[in-house]
Amino acid sequence: MPNGTVYLIGAGPGDPGLITVRGRERLGAADVVVYDRLAHPALLDYARPEAERVYVGKASARHAMKQPEINALLVEQALQGKTVARLKGGDPFVFGRGGEEAEACRAAGVPFEVVPGVTSAIAAPAYAGIPVTHRDAASSFAVITGHERDDATESGTREPGAAEGRRNWATIAHAADTLIFLMGVESLPEIAARLQEHGRSPETPVALVQWGTWPRQRVVTGTLATIVEERLRAGLTPPAVCVVGDVVRLREELRWFDDPAVRPLLGKRALVTRAREQASALSDLLRARGAEPVEFPVIKIARLEDYSGLDSALSRLRQYDWAVFTSANAVPIVAERLEASGRDARAFGTTKIAAIGPATAEALRQQLGLRADFVPTEAVAEAVIAQWPEAEMQGKRVLLPRAAEAREILPEKLHERGATVDVLPVYETVLDASSAESLRAQLQNGELDILTFTSSSTVRNFAQALTEGDTASLPVLVGNALVAAIGPITADTARELGLTPQIVAEEHTIPGLVAALEEHYRHA
Ligand code: SAH
Repeated sequence: MPNGTVYLIGAGPGDPGLITVRGRERLGAADVVVYDRLAHPALLDYARPEAERVYVGKASARHAMKQPEINALLVEQALQGKTVARLKGGDPFVFGRGGEEAEACRAAGVPFEVVPGVTSAIAAPAYAGIPVTHRDAASSFAVITGHERDDATESGTREPGAAEGRRNWATIAHAADTLIFLMGVESLPEIAARLQEHGRSPETPVALVQWGTWPRQRVVTGTLATIVEERLRAGLTPPAVCVVGDVVRLREELRWFDDPAVRPLLGKRALVTRAREQASALSDLLRARGAEPVEFPVIKIARLEDYSGLDSALSRLRQYDWAVFTSANAVPIVAERLEASGRDARAFGTTKIAAIGPATAEALRQQLGLRADFVPTEAVAEAVIAQWPEAEMQGKRVLLPRAAEAREILPEKLHERGATVDVLPVYETVLDASSAESLRAQLQNGELDILTFTSSSTVRNFAQALTEGDTASLPVLVGNALVAAIGPITADTARELGLTPQIVAEEHTIPGLVAALEEHYRHA
């Protein structure tokens, strides 16, 4: 078997959007992904589900894999013919020891490629509103190691390499206008002292950017004279980039990512309880507002065993005056059943289409090419009935494809008004308790700021998964976390379970929910 290739891939500094197109593509082709702590875990989703994932950067130095072991692992996997993705924080060749990994591959005759990444040296200052050069403030920058740590052994001192041992502070102090130190938190006292000793003014501005580009980004500023004290006061720990130079002053004007006025959700950890299939839209929006989504899909959308009822209704579709879609989840299954019977959206003929809300209408448009004739202003069953576009419902035939278990209000009210309603179960939502243990721990430790609920079933399943039926313990477990519901029905379900929803979105959509959260924190 020919040797596999090792791809040394820069993961970027944290924000998962900062991986390169090439890096993402190579991750998707890997049989094995070898990663450590500074690469964002969401990036692993780009690898194939069956790809092996090997973590080599435990937070405790005792468990961290030593560099020679990592080198050996990469080579050994490639010699088995596997495609190996070595995912490294930032850029693999900027203090990432990627050079050593490439040397190991070369020595073993294993082909390798380098996929450069966005280095934290530039990106962390950028996300703090600090350009590393500026026409008026700095015409050069230098990236220097503080040499006490590296990305594979985040805690624990490592011996400096030969090049680092020969450092000459007189040269470093004047290497460039802007000096950027990586791995420099522990040696900050030495850095600050030596730079002043060798002629940099004590007034020189300094910024420490911790977890740059991550929602938990924190920035501490000061001068060469004060930064050591400021850092201690803030209790700031690695990983952080230390920027020294006049450009740091620009942060006052250019601060953006961690500006609370722009991103009121910054640093908030928000639980996303939607089914895995749907979580990403909410997570993406939360992330864009600065929050850190924590996905615990407490429900799964499950297919039914038997679709003969749906198939038969779809074969008679034209007989219906209306088809009412109360969830986007029903759309792909209806599309698939049509396809399976050799038909397409034309089967709807002149049947009118109602969608409960904009997301469902969009799913119909994208997956079936159907435009909804009616979308109520509020995405709840009550609004469907109140705003039904036809005064006369007597004798109308309505098809209602939906979840196996759902509220009966819609079919009942339509029936009361004279319509014949065929309710067709097309999917079911089932409990996914696989992550309950870790969810409980995070709640108990107060690590979640916000709990989002996008349907009554997410609330019920959340309660069920956490308490195994004994819901009396739920309020204590939830503690001070902010409960946010997508609408009044979901909020009522939360109340029934003893929770107090502080936020009920006015617009019952995912963007509406996120907007309500922003509004809350802006005034908090
Ligand atoms: N190859 C990486 C650097 C690895 S050395 C890169 O190009 O970014 C590890 C050091 O990088 C950390 O000690 C810290 O100084 C810095 N670092 C990495 N990611 C960071 C981040 N998101 N925010 C701040 N510093 C970071």
